[in-house]
Amino acid sequence: MRILVTGGAGFIGGHLAEAFLDDGHDVTVLDNLEPFYAEGIKRHTLDVHREVAEGRAVDYQFVEGDVRDPETVEALVADADVVVHQAAQAGVRESVDNPRKVTDINVDGTVNLLEASKEADVDRVILASSSSVYGKPQSLPYEEDHPTEPVSPYGVTKLTQEHMARVYTELHGLPTVCLRYFTVYGPRMRPNMAISNFVSRCVNGEPPVIYGDGQQTRDFTYVADVVDANRTLLESDAADGDVLNIGSSDNISIQKLAETVRDQLAPELEIEYESAREADAEHTHASVEKAGEVIGYEPSRTIAEGVGEFIEWYQANREWYEPLVRES
Ligand code: NAD
Repeated sequence: MRILVTGGAGFIGGHLAEAFLDDGHDVTVLDNLEPFYAEGIKRHTLDVHREVAEGRAVDYQFVEGDVRDPETVEALVADADVVVHQAAQAGVRESVDNPRKVTDINVDGTVNLLEASKEADVDRVILASSSSVYGKPQSLPYEEDHPTEPVSPYGVTKLTQEHMARVYTELHGLPTVCLRYFTVYGPRMRPNMAISNFVSRCVNGEPPVIYGDGQQTRDFTYVADVVDANRTLLESDAADGDVLNIGSSDNISIQKLAETVRDQLAPELEIEYESAREADAEHTHASVEKAGEVIGYEPSRTIAEGVGEFIEWYQANREWYEPLVRES
């Protein structure tokens, strides 16, 4: 099948495109190489795609373009069997600073994709949503029917995207699935996230820095689990018209995360604290029961195992990745 991966030069989209090529699918990546964070990581990801594609009988295309441009989107969707939509302006803080830009990309861009997919009659659109749609927890772990009251413009755009997808399914019969990812980490992860920062500092003998008191809790998801969920959905209609949490269901405090990284790399370091940042969720915790029932999803690693694997990857890729983390 030919799969269009929007945002395929980014962290998660990059892993998805790599896995789909490895599985023998034809892949088109659409990405505008938005300089939100170090472009070097995206260039590296595109090189990985070319290397994987070279060894296989698959067609790989990278198109530098924008999901806000309906003509580009229409032309690419017309050739696709499945659309896997990862392109977005990620980042809660960025959305507080630039709400118009975030809305343009995450809402208008998604409508372009859905509209083109409806016209092209694609088999399925799989969309990256986020735990940010939930907002303040009334009960944890979040189940998919928990009230949605996002506390950031980013969360609002992701919730709007979900509603748009549902409406396209109901009005036009377009099969769509929204996956609510819970903080994703792993090789090539966005450099401005807690795990990459903690690892980078500890590797260099500098104490990890926590924003707030460290008692915020997060459900960290290893990127391979996100890949598995998307891979299953390429050929399954089990979740059409639905939303699923994709998390680890193993939530830990930021304090514990910093200790986990520190203990594996530099146990002598004392953790440092700075003031909390606005609009960050206090607690996230995924129930993955529904994803387990509907698509057989099962988280594969504990956080300590996943962090260990990321540290191993970081050390093997330190030469090119570390300067990009340090400049972010
Ligand atoms: P990312 O920033 O690494 O990837 C997004 C990609 O989209 C980037 O390569 C960027 O260049 C591209 N992009 C941005 N604007 C674009 C536009 N207008 N046109 C075309 N391409 C554009 O982010 P990520 O962490 O890989 O996130 C992927 C998806 O998963 C996003 O939709 C994000 O909202 C969602 N998500 C991520 C996490 C996480 O923890 N990483 C958690 C929840 C949801």
